[in-house]
Amino acid sequence: MSSKDIMEKGEKYLLHTYNRYPIVLERGEGVYLYDTDGNKYLDFGAGIAVFALGYGNSKFNDAIKAQTEKLIHTSNLFYNVPAVEAAEKICALTGLDRVFFTNSGTEAIEGAIKAARKVAYTRDSHTDHEMIAMEHSFHGRSYGALSVTGNPHYREPFGPGIGNIKFAKFNDLDSVKALINDKTCGIIFETVQGEGGIYPATEEFIKGVRQLCDEKGILLILDEIQCGMGRTGSMFAFEKYGVRPDILTLAKALGCGIPVGAFLMSEAVAEKSLVPGDHGSTYGGNPLATAAVCEVLRQFEEKDIVGNVRNLSPLFEDKLNGLKNKYGFIKDVRGAGFMRAIELDRSVGDIVKEAQKMGLIVLTAGANIIRLVPPLVIGEEDINEMYRILDEVFSKIE
Ligand SMILES: *Cc1c(COP(=O)(O)O)cnc(C)c1O
Repeated sequence: MSSKDIMEKGEKYLLHTYNRYPIVLERGEGVYLYDTDGNKYLDFGAGIAVFALGYGNSKFNDAIKAQTEKLIHTSNLFYNVPAVEAAEKICALTGLDRVFFTNSGTEAIEGAIKAARKVAYTRDSHTDHEMIAMEHSFHGRSYGALSVTGNPHYREPFGPGIGNIKFAKFNDLDSVKALINDKTCGIIFETVQGEGGIYPATEEFIKGVRQLCDEKGILLILDEIQCGMGRTGSMFAFEKYGVRPDILTLAKALGCGIPVGAFLMSEAVAEKSLVPGDHGSTYGGNPLATAAVCEVLRQFEEKDIVGNVRNLSPLFEDKLNGLKNKYGFIKDVRGAGFMRAIELDRSVGDIVKEAQKMGLIVLTAGANIIRLVPPLVIGEEDINEMYRILDEVFSKIE
């Protein structure tokens, strides 16, 4: 089948929930992707911040193959070796005590919301607790996650959501304070807002919310589905602020493409929240998915993936500042580590397509923002190449 045929069939049979780019991706190698016409792309999207370790990673592929030979699925009615190993590792890394593995990010958010509500219910037996989420946040597409997602465009057509959710302004502590009352059971936000445009939490905000939560017995839920797993230059973005959440959500790079997510919590939260019968998942944490997690975490350590992000972050920032200084239509560049945004004074749709034609894949975050979330294994030469292509694309604009 030609690329054109595949695209036509895709348009015919796949539910039209995405405006796809006219490219059929076929295989990957390192930080490069190849389409069915043989074109090569430097990938600064990583399948939406998923494929941290680069493509065609033979040890990763071997680990999955080996697990496939042994056992793909068991259900959670039994123990399995990879799930226990992955759980021990991820608890040690996060400093949290217990984990529940899910199949996606949105499911991790569902679990986090249920856990927070259950803690409050255990305390007072009421069923009218409230949560505070942030404007411009993104937490996923299932109902609970959608209900705490701050972008009304995603939420409104599907109302009513789960209810009792209030939205504060991100990085505005007073706006959070103003919404807290006796019914507030949790405050949820992304440590670095992703889809909303790459906005890191300020130190004042995250520390302030942590303190408010401690004073009032509210749970702090941090969503690090996108910004976690080394992306910002520390294993988890919250580490840099010297705070720890009560509940943490992970996905995306956790399985590097094998669908897996997780929500974690402190022992104090676990004791008062989900007990047998309260929550479950047929697939969640199955041996195939958690074998992938184990191998991802092993390679993070072996290759010092986080160190690579930290080392190259100044170069990345330099290059983006260089573009900003050169082009008046760039309003802002921001982010941390390998999670960066270029905000323009205009729509970036055509710019993204032009970059693709020149062999660079980038993402967007809203109409005016280019989002750069490359695999975490890129080298200096890849950042220079990204700069060269964007420079050329930008130079043609006016
Ligand atoms: C992608 C994302 C989600 C949803 O994850 P899915 O796996 O697509 O369900 C939730 N929160 C954040 C911050 C994300 O970036």
